[in-house]
Amino acid sequence: MTKQNLKGLDRDELTAFFAGLNEPAFRARQLFRWMYGRAAQNFAEITDFAKPLRARLQELATLETLALETRQLSQRRDAEKFLFRLADGVHIESVLMRDGAPGRASRHTLCISSQVGCPVDCKFCATGLMGLLRNLRSGEIVDQVLQAKQLSGSKALAGSPITNVVVMGMGEPMLNYDALIKACSLLSDAEGPNLAQRRIVISTSGLVPKIERFTKEGHKFRLAISLNATTDEVRNQIMPINRKYPIAPLLQAAREYTRQSKQRVTFEYILLDGINDSLADADRLKTLTRNIPCKINLIPYNPIAKPHPDGRSQSAAGLETLLAYRRPSFERIEAFLACMREGPNTVTLRWSKGDDIDAACGQLWTKVEKKSNGVEI
Ligand code: SF4
Repeated sequence: MTKQNLKGLDRDELTAFFAGLNEPAFRARQLFRWMYGRAAQNFAEITDFAKPLRARLQELATLETLALETRQLSQRRDAEKFLFRLADGVHIESVLMRDGAPGRASRHTLCISSQVGCPVDCKFCATGLMGLLRNLRSGEIVDQVLQAKQLSGSKALAGSPITNVVVMGMGEPMLNYDALIKACSLLSDAEGPNLAQRRIVISTSGLVPKIERFTKEGHKFRLAISLNATTDEVRNQIMPINRKYPIAPLLQAAREYTRQSKQRVTFEYILLDGINDSLADADRLKTLTRNIPCKINLIPYNPIAKPHPDGRSQSAAGLETLLAYRRPSFERIEAFLACMREGPNTVTLRWSKGDDIDAACGQLWTKVEKKSNGVEI
């Protein structure tokens, strides 16, 4: 008999599960607290339950847990990447980043994945080359936070509570909408990890109908849009999703989100040398975002280390394109930033952390998948 995985279920679903066992409804609340608040990994840990109930649960159900395959800590000790193995043997990545000086009050942000691989095919992204293997389930999204919390206690990012979550790892979150929203609700539950909703950011490549749905449903999680270009011509080239949802309707959806939610939207803008980093681009970016309450994050591109040519899911053409992208010079980045700062919106420059740990999304996955295929990197 297949055991039922309870991780990822909400209170109502747990209540229904216990009702099926003729157990009272308060068992659901107890399990919820242990599973999401205290990160219990098996029923033996749940001392609120009498031994016979624990044994019964052991027979019928599981609390599926991500297995740590490997971890890498950056030299500056400000980022740590985890590669997790899921129950069916596929892998996903999560990255924990620390902002602020060690020892001082600082922000610890976990970047989590929403899919295994990604079908969106942004040309500068290693994950995009993999294609989509499958969507993550709610429990697998939540468990990245639970496991990273446990693991971060034993190394240099130590003892740091996770204060923020960004759904910006592998995958396009809005293509796994229902599982994602359920996971974010579990993460923000006061009896679970208890992350404030405003500290959970969902980042999308720009799926307009999903942004509209998100707006209509009135979620308090924050929205970020990966913009990365100021003309449709360039955006079509680097983010083919733009052919379906061009810049104008995308910005209109962002504007409507800010109007209805009364929140700012964040625009992520990855600076790619010679592609989107001219002063004309900066001027256009200021103009495009002028009437939208927003924050603009400029992110100098983190070049991809050359993967092994035997990569199983990387087309030669895709790989060649990926390797052609470069980070702009420091002077070009500074000039772009200075120009943007003349505009009305808040602009920040965010250097990617941990460029020594395959921190760009998809890189560590690529290495480990190849190793498990018998190809040495
Ligand atoms: S940048 Fe994000 S949406 Fe684009 S291919 Fe990579 S993972 Fe997918």
